[in-house]
Amino acid sequence: MHEKKGTVQHKTIIEPFKIKSVEPIRLSTESERTVLLEEAYYNPFLLHSDDVIIDLLTDSGTSAMSAEQWAGILRGDEAYAGSKSWYRMRDAICDLTGFEHVLPTHQGRAAERIIYGMIGGEGKVFISNTHFDTTRANIEYSGAEAIDLPVAIGRDTAAIHPFKGNIDTEALQEVISERGANNIAAVILTVTNNSGGGQPVSMANARETSRICSENGILFLLDCCRIAENSWFVRNREAGFENKSFRAIAREMFALADGAVMSAKKDALVNMGGFLALKDKQLAQECQNMLIITEGFTTYGGLSGRDMEAIAIGLDEVFDPDYLEYRIRSTAYLGENLHKLGVPLMLPIGGHAVYIDARKLYPHIPPKEYPGQSLVCQLYLKGGIRAVEIGSVMFGKYAANGELIPASMELVRLAIPRRVYTQSHMEYVIETFEQILKERNAASGFEIIEEPRFLRHFTAKFSPVLNGVVHSERVIY
Ligand SMILES: *Cc1c(COP(=O)(O)O)cnc(C)c1O
Repeated sequence: MHEKKGTVQHKTIIEPFKIKSVEPIRLSTESERTVLLEEAYYNPFLLHSDDVIIDLLTDSGTSAMSAEQWAGILRGDEAYAGSKSWYRMRDAICDLTGFEHVLPTHQGRAAERIIYGMIGGEGKVFISNTHFDTTRANIEYSGAEAIDLPVAIGRDTAAIHPFKGNIDTEALQEVISERGANNIAAVILTVTNNSGGGQPVSMANARETSRICSENGILFLLDCCRIAENSWFVRNREAGFENKSFRAIAREMFALADGAVMSAKKDALVNMGGFLALKDKQLAQECQNMLIITEGFTTYGGLSGRDMEAIAIGLDEVFDPDYLEYRIRSTAYLGENLHKLGVPLMLPIGGHAVYIDARKLYPHIPPKEYPGQSLVCQLYLKGGIRAVEIGSVMFGKYAANGELIPASMELVRLAIPRRVYTQSHMEYVIETFEQILKERNAASGFEIIEEPRFLRHFTAKFSPVLNGVVHSERVIY
């Protein structure tokens, strides 16, 4: 029954599941989408999902749950205190992470708000391989500063390196001595590095980070949303891990840290949920107070019993070798085929997403006209495909004179929901890119006409820049 892995590799990577329940996709036309996009102010976040054919906006909370998880939903114990489902979830997390104190939250950012609100504040500094957008926002909202120190090669989208998600440990040491260890609230390793291109972090890098943190008495946390996917890369790319299980590799990485924040909407294969797990009892107790005030009692946080049941099951299923093999290989399939077409990409392909280098695709659109936003609009117009800009819309800042300080990269992320789309859906995406490549010179830039102060990419409104004509007013709220 179990063929040796090596012998099946050159056959088609099939989805290791059958479809029991289907969700129809409405097939819209390009002329319908032209109107819909204008009505959404050229921001795909403002589209109705019904008007999207292939939704690659995010892999967050978009997983298909298994029959086992749906069965768990029915078994969920909705007791206010001491729910059976809570104990299942807690045990699953303690077993995986080795951390004794677990706080359930309704999603990742709630855990972030609790812990970073607690240890952050004016004058504090956080350092990461790359802070995810909600992580940065929660840190900055507390008054603290968030510094990204990815390895230099991680910023070169074309360079091939097995662990482009690593943190630059030399720079880390420099920043610690410049700022003083007392002022560093935490070092956060995001595995895999989502905003930095979905690239993995090696065990060696986590070990060195751990050593530097403990030497300086600094809290070391994992943002572990994609810990199972990261473990696949460690096993396949780092010497000495070939024969370890994915789960054992994940455990080994957790053992290096003082705690973890997780959005269960990623590798726990559920639609909602998260947690904070900590080694230190006192810190956990302080966080628990905030949990009760803002999320809920300690045995449910912001979750229903059924959600907790599904998380416990998902955290187990995600380490299934057949699933992980399919997951990583099918993301690579999309990326490799786009690469063959000549689409400029972040290489090598990451775990949960393919990142297109929009600056290279549209060299005629300057960063201040957001080339990534042009690509997400083209994807929607030509194929009804929804993707997200990860560039100057998401991470750009304004200088005192109002000029845009662009992000270091102009990426567009095609995030692949877990267990949702089949290979033919991906073939359709590849065909849409063929058309986009042919018409690349006709794509125009965008300007922002209205935006909020934080996390602007979610709700900003855009207008096309046609023949260099820009509005003079921009509303900031
Ligand atoms: C999704 C995500 C978060 C935030 O989690 P939510 O559940 O969306 O609040 C934090 N960090 C990383 C790396 C993520 O991918």
